[in-house]
Formats: sequence, C-alpha cells, structure tokens
Amino acid sequence: MKILVIGSGGREHALVWKLAQSPHVTQMWCAPGNAGIQQEITEKTEKAVECVNISAEDLPKLLAFAQEKKIDLTVVGPDNPLALGIVDLFQKNGQRIWGPNQKAAQFEASKVFSQGFMEQYGIPTARGGTFADVASAKIFAESLDGKCAVKADGLALGKGVLVCANMAEANKAIDEILVGKAFGAAGSKIVIQEFLEGPEISLHALCDGKTAKLFPTSQDHKRALDGDKGLNTGGMGTYSPTPFLDQAQLVEAGRLILGPWLKGCMSEDIDFRGILYPGIILTKNGPRVIEFNARFGDPETQVYLTRLENDLVELLSASVDGTLGRMELKWSPMASVCVVMASGGYPGSYAKGKAISGLDEAAKLPNTKVFHAGTAQAGDQIVTSGGRVLGVTSWAKDLKSAQAAAYAAVEKIQFEGAQFRRDIAAKAF
Ligand code: AMP
Repeated sequence: MKILVIGSGGREHALVWKLAQSPHVTQMWCAPGNAGIQQEITEKTEKAVECVNISAEDLPKLLAFAQEKKIDLTVVGPDNPLALGIVDLFQKNGQRIWGPNQKAAQFEASKVFSQGFMEQYGIPTARGGTFADVASAKIFAESLDGKCAVKADGLALGKGVLVCANMAEANKAIDEILVGKAFGAAGSKIVIQEFLEGPEISLHALCDGKTAKLFPTSQDHKRALDGDKGLNTGGMGTYSPTPFLDQAQLVEAGRLILGPWLKGCMSEDIDFRGILYPGIILTKNGPRVIEFNARFGDPETQVYLTRLENDLVELLSASVDGTLGRMELKWSPMASVCVVMASGGYPGSYAKGKAISGLDEAAKLPNTKVFHAGTAQAGDQIVTSGGRVLGVTSWAKDLKSAQAAAYAAVEKIQFEGAQFRRDIAAKAF
C-alpha cells in the first residue's frame, strides 16, 4: 500500500514510524513532514519516507498529490485540515482517507456544538452555557462565582480557553473573546463551563462510525513549567498508562461517555471514522468531559503508538471500512513516557535554526525513540524550526523506569535554549 501522512509534528512522526513497520506498506510520503520523518524507512520494502513540501491546509494540492501518486490511504494528523473538510474532498474524488469528515470534525471545531451535544445526549460534562452576548455571559459566570473556563467556540491553535478563578478574571476573559476578538471569528460565540477539580486525563477511542474502541489512559502536561506552572502549551510531555483509573473504572468511563456519544451520532447522522479524544477531569462525582478533540493527541500519540501492538495500517483501514467491531486492540504492558524538548521562550516567541546535537547517541539507547516535531534539515545538520522540537520517548516494564530512561535520553541531546519539564509522569507517583 502507498500511504500519505498529513502533518509535520511529533504526532505525525509517531504515526509515520508506526505505519512504516507494517508489512502492508510499500511506500510512504508525508506532507509537509519534518527532519525526523524523512529518516524513517518502510520496514518491508526498505524505502525512505519522502517529505513533500505541501502545507497540511493546502487541500487542492494534497488531493492532486494523492491522485498523482495513486495513494491507497491518506492519514490525517492535525485538526485544521479535518475542520476544512479534507475527508469530504478526498472521498468525493474517490480517494481513500482516514479521519472524520467535516460534520464529524465539529466535535473539535465547535465547542458550542460539543457542549450542546453532550447536554442533549447525557454525556457527563461540566455545567455550562453558550453565549454570543456579553451581558448574559457575565450573568452566567456570576452564577458560578467567576470560577469557570471561558472557551472560544472555534479552533484557536489550542489557546482559546481562559481558566478563571473569580469574577474579575471571568469578566476580563469574556470581554477579551467577545468584544476584543482575541481569537477572531473563532470567538464570536463562547462556552462557559463551571471550573472542575480533579486529575485531568486524556482518553482516545478509535471509531468506525458504529463502534468505538477505547485506548488505555494517558496524561498530558499542558503547562510550560514544572508543577503545572507557567503558560498553557500544546503539551510538554505525556505518559501511559496513568494510575488514576483501573481497568474496571476505565471501562465504566468508556460506557458513560462513549455509549451516549455513539447513540447521539446515530441520531444526528454523524459518521465519525477517526480518533475521538475526549479531555476528561476525574471529579469526585465521576469523570466529566471538558472537551472533545477529533484526532490523535500530540504528544499522546507518541506514548500510545510505542505501546500499541497491532498493525496500525490494519486498524486505520478497519476504521475507514467500518469493520472495527472485528478487531481487538492489543497494548504492550510496558509503560511509556514522552518528554518534550522545546525552544527557549516557547510558548511565547522563540528563535529557530539552532543546531541540535546528540541525536545519534540518543538513538542508540534501547527502547527509546526520539520523535521530531519542529526540526528541519540544514545542510548536514538538523536544526530547530518550531516551538516544540522533539518528543523523547522511552518505554519500560514500569513507569519509573520509563521515566528514568526518557530523561537519560534527554540528557544526551543539546540545542541552545532547550527547555523541558523535569516532572513528566511525576503525578503518577
Ligand atoms: P480545553 O482545550 O477545553 O481542554 O481546555 C484547556 C485546558 O483548560 C484544559 O486542559 C484544562 O486544564 C482547562 N479546563 C478546560 N475546561 C475546564 C473546566 N471546565 N474546569 C477546569 N479546567 C478546565
């Protein structure tokens, strides 16, 4: 099979790495990819994965490329092309593609849609409301004593959520989004949710329109600095499994969330084929969904795919074909930890083009994979080219050993200004 992966982050490197191991794959491309992705080799045919310089949002060019190369399966990593309708466009043109169509991608593209859906179909979520008008938004925030999360409706590069502790902060957040248009048109409506307390975890479920197969749990670290301090980022590290839910509790959370979600999808004629990734807070009253994403998490993918034992081509094909019911997901009992190394200054402004050393040494370590995100090839050097640069991932018989191995690998790698959290997975202990 010829495969095209769309995207350029650590998630896409993990997808390419795992897909390249499949005996079904003869040749693979990634648009636009990164310096690590182009070092991957398909295991069966020993062909280098080629990166093609097409943006993940240039839908017409991606379609033309898939047609020209006679791609058998296109795999979409990021949320933007899904929200733009890449799946609908490819399908209309007879191209096989994995990911939710535009209607299904609304679960991520519109928080107003998701909040309404959760309330209508009885999916456990935070008490919330949807507003386009400042005065009623502030009255609702007042009813929560200002302890709330104010969320722009649309996609805002992961920055559209403002968590507030009091009325002054809530008023400011509502004004910033609805009046100041801090997130442009994405903030013409907002969702306000009550502030929920408890550990936050990520769930993933692979779906085929009728069936949803739940992954083990993982936990992201959103804040830039140790101890969950500093600004929100795309994610500074993950680990899987988490100790917060045992197998029985995970199954129960899946029943509470995915049961009504699947029923709702049937009623609304939503054909969701892809990854549903609910963000969950484990409150003392049970799990509550605070948001849905409609794609693999980044960096959750890095820890999931280093634990997945199935052939990923077969799983994604079953998701596209609606035959997931027959598949059983198999997970390694090993724990996996991913530590993100970022450019100095991230998530604010940062320099690019810093030479990265030590990658070869880190690659020699057992049960370790350095996934690239913001990297580029400059002559014979690999240099930084983004905020999140690398996802250093190790797996081992238990979480403590995986954590130690990931940090041992991080120690081998240097670039000017490199920053990373030193407490990834620490909450588990
Ligand atoms: P979201 O993009 O909706 O997941 O929100 C970004 C971050 O804001 C989450 O990872 C949580 O840490 C926090 N957050 C969002 N909604 C809530 C909520 N209702 N209660 C507490 N924290 C929240």
